[in-house]
Amino acid sequence: MHNNWIAGEWAGSHNTQNNLNPSELSDIVGEYVRASESDVDAAITAAESAWPSWSLSTPQQRFDALDMIGTEILARKNELGELLAREEGKTLPEAIGEAARAGQIFKFFAGEALRIRGDIQASTRPGIQVEVTREPVGIVGIITPWNFPIAIPAWKIAPALAYGNCVVFKPADLVPGSAWALSEIISRSGLPAGVFNLVMGRGSVVGAALITDPRVPAISFTGSVETGRHILRQTAPLQKKTQLEMGGKNPLVILNDADMETALNCAVQGAFYSTGQRCTASSRIIVERGIYDRFTQALAERAQALRVGHALEPNTQIGPVCDETQLRQNLDYIDIGKNEGARLLCGGERLQQPANGCYFSPAVFADATNDMRISREEIFGPVASVIRADNYEHALSLANDTEFGLSSGICTQSLKYATHFKRASHSGLVMVNVATAGVDYHVPFGGRKGSSFGPREQGSYAKEFFTIVKTAYTLA
Ligand code: NAD
Repeated sequence: MHNNWIAGEWAGSHNTQNNLNPSELSDIVGEYVRASESDVDAAITAAESAWPSWSLSTPQQRFDALDMIGTEILARKNELGELLAREEGKTLPEAIGEAARAGQIFKFFAGEALRIRGDIQASTRPGIQVEVTREPVGIVGIITPWNFPIAIPAWKIAPALAYGNCVVFKPADLVPGSAWALSEIISRSGLPAGVFNLVMGRGSVVGAALITDPRVPAISFTGSVETGRHILRQTAPLQKKTQLEMGGKNPLVILNDADMETALNCAVQGAFYSTGQRCTASSRIIVERGIYDRFTQALAERAQALRVGHALEPNTQIGPVCDETQLRQNLDYIDIGKNEGARLLCGGERLQQPANGCYFSPAVFADATNDMRISREEIFGPVASVIRADNYEHALSLANDTEFGLSSGICTQSLKYATHFKRASHSGLVMVNVATAGVDYHVPFGGRKGSSFGPREQGSYAKEFFTIVKTAYTLA
């Protein structure tokens, strides 16, 4: 049994659930408790008790804990990656890469704990000194999705702790395994009891209790637009600091002058890897008329050649869909796309494999238009809509015509268009000749419009959310 970590102890609960392997549904990854509202209350109470002294902890104390966590994650990245691949369905190399990323993030924020700076400014009044300093916010509620079960928790928990906050962490109900393993490492890092708490369980119970409790002044959430908007409606009247990272419908523009091999690699990587289950996936591929037919045909050939299979098999390129519900959603969108008049060139089918898992073939829709539902709504699967553009200006306007604004990309050899696109694209991340998915951990991450709300995550920009600025005036 895997319990919650509350007030420096492993705590059981009445409800439990089995964590299933989407590559082979008969494989139970483990049994995990589901917290009740009173468990969340206990975790918040523990964080509240730990907060006064932890908020005054030294940067060295925080560095030591975060560095130790990062070192252990990196040393165990293969084992943690295997667990992640088993519970979420990413291929083993992708999962090991994600585990390593979590370790690097803890190492980065260990260093950030030593780099908390302020400003001294001259006052407009004689004899007065003005100091601007950063202080921790307090107890941060962290709510994460299922598609990056160790990296996203890491990029919220590490900065929260580095800047002196206490944490109550609620991972996605579907994939508690990686979150529990991460929490187990954190539990041995020397943090005082109550500084970090794990409460696994349902969003409607654990998440709801966390976002409405007035003792939690900050919520950092990653997940769907629907849940994010619901959270904001709950937290705004309580004036909680709220950070939301949500969905995407990310465009990849391919111009006539693009290097074909680069463009195909960006499209295949961006649209299909990690089974398309990435907020930064290239789900709209906007191709200039001159190369549309050639590119679309080549993309379909590449998609068909991808090896879909068990996440732990060495030859697998595309793992299973995370669960049956998401698989049904993918299949529904295939029907929607066909009914809307898009031409399905390949894939879009449930696949039978020797293992009893959630397998789905990567799909390419040609002749898609930007007003179709398959081009406007986040499918969150390996499904690409390929849209025709008359020229660069048309492609840019199609790219920006979306309620989302997380990532965008362009493949071109033209410095003029690449430079213009970087400026004119309405998204938080812009890629030139690089896939829309795949980012560094030491620079800001986040989107615009419907994709994000609040300050950026990651890199030193994370301090904007996890600290509060104080301005002090002294007459010497
Ligand atoms: P989801 O919104 O269903 O769940 C996210 C988290 O919110 C889970 O922990 C869930 O239990 C919790 N939750 C659900 N209802 C809640 C409630 N009423 N109150 C509080 N918490 C609640 O999202 P998901 O299906 O786990 O993840 C997929 C989504 O996440 C996609 O839309 C994807 O684009 C998005 N995502 C965004 C980013 C990003 O950085 N922008 C990264 C990864 C995933």
